[in-house]
Amino acid sequence: MTTTGVCENCGAPWHENLACCEYCDVPIQGRVAGIRCPSCSEVATADARACPCCQQSFTKGCVFCGQAAFLTAGSCPRCHEAFEGAEERKAQRDHEARNQQIVGLATKGMSAIGQVAGSSGSRQVIGSLVDMIIKAGR
Ligand SMILES: [Zn+2]
Ligand SMILES: [Zn+2]
Ligand SMILES: [Zn+2]
Repeated sequence: MTTTGVCENCGAPWHENLACCEYCDVPIQGRVAGIRCPSCSEVATADARACPCCQQSFTKGCVFCGQAAFLTAGSCPRCHEAFEGAEERKAQRDHEARNQQIVGLATKGMSAIGQVAGSSGSRQVIGSLVDMIIKAGR
């Protein structure tokens, strides 16, 4: 990779780690363009993990497994979850898991209520089960 030179269009010295001139965006010869910084819109070289101008990170952690991946990647390289709407899907799944927990608890509660129904302690048992369910829902 050529490391020194000037922009053939505007004459500005090449920025280290940028694939295009930072002033006029003309591609720098011999450099492989990677990610266009989502923050300052400079084009970094393909091996850059963060923007050399504004330090914006080009990687993000998968919300499902924590694997770091490029912002431009469509899906996680480890668990293959698509990044598109990943946060929402994760929230949705967490929500469903919690609901299932509550349903499970409620089902357990119902059978317990069935067992104690008719006995003098049933009111109290039902009360504490309802408490449990409410707490689990938070
Ligand atoms: Zn230039
Ligand atoms: Zn930047
Ligand atoms: Zn993942």
